[in-house]
Amino acid sequence: MGVNLAQVEGAYKVSFPHMGNYCIPVRTLAEPLECEIVTPPKMTRRTLELGARHSPEFVCVPFKYNLGNYIEALDIGANLLIQAGGGCRFGYYAEVQEAILRDLGYQFGMVRLLGGFDLREHIRDFRAVNPRLTLWRALKAYRVALRQTKALDQVEELMRKNAGFEVEDGAFERIHKRFLAELDKAREIRVIEDIERRYLAEMASVPIERPDDMLRVGIVGELYVLMEPFSNYFVEKELARRGVEVHRFVTVSHMVENAGKHKDAYLRRMIELADPYLKYHVGADGTESVAMTHKLMRDGFDGVLHLKPFGCMPEVNAMAALQRLSREHTFPVLFISYDEQTSETGLATRLDAFCDMLRMRKGKPSR
Ligand code: SF4
Repeated sequence: MGVNLAQVEGAYKVSFPHMGNYCIPVRTLAEPLECEIVTPPKMTRRTLELGARHSPEFVCVPFKYNLGNYIEALDIGANLLIQAGGGCRFGYYAEVQEAILRDLGYQFGMVRLLGGFDLREHIRDFRAVNPRLTLWRALKAYRVALRQTKALDQVEELMRKNAGFEVEDGAFERIHKRFLAELDKAREIRVIEDIERRYLAEMASVPIERPDDMLRVGIVGELYVLMEPFSNYFVEKELARRGVEVHRFVTVSHMVENAGKHKDAYLRRMIELADPYLKYHVGADGTESVAMTHKLMRDGFDGVLHLKPFGCMPEVNAMAALQRLSREHTFPVLFISYDEQTSETGLATRLDAFCDMLRMRKGKPSR
């Protein structure tokens, strides 16, 4: 069990790292702990600077963002941190971050969720924090959080595909903001379903104009930089501003659907889809990056963006296969690597050049 509560003084105040708007379902999940929930301050440049200053230099950038979130949360009163763990370096995040924060002098408890999506194991860990936690209460929170996640993913997917063509600037953003506020308060499945239905309908009725030279681009890569817009410099919004329909498969709903007992079958499907560019699983999200790029190419997409944190080995493995696929099919793939030195202007220039090149290709008859 990965729980260390030895240093907590007084009532628990629980916190967790940010990833996109998933703080909404995470708050729902944390409610059965019956303690104060401290959402870390909004991500800013300071978050990354704090995280980077206290992290090993070559650790991947999601580690630095998470550490920055923890420092900012501890500074506003949190005393209990939650971290998950995975098959790559993610598996070491919790232990290393705990050691760094203790060296910095913080006194706090840590819950390390090491069982992937194994709910029973998580409930055992959470019972160390709240011994009154019942299976029924935890399952109810889990169902509600899952439904919120699904609503979030559905609405944001519709937004990704259409926001680039809105007639009135900011129309989708305004609806999205109201949607998040309502979703955050909802704790009943039928209420969440109603919110999802209403906001999908409202977004579908926003006036849009798709130009003749519209581009369809897919985004693949490492899950954190895909799903945390601050860490990818709001790349989806930037593409939308350039009149691009953006597609992304990786969401938390997608991950939950293909986890646990479905994981092996899903990986086999991904390896088949990645054939002939991969024969084996290359770790974390790397196989999926190749499989989905292959699919997007066959589905007639104009290009793909591959996003990864600097030094992310699974995605470095995927890059060799992606380069071969891109070369053999003359299929455009833009590789973007993120760390704390990434320049916003440099990224904007590369996106401009990539979109211009895709538009020029579209103007040419295919070979
Ligand atoms: S997938 Fe890559 S970036 Fe993410 S934790 Fe693993 S090694 Fe780091």
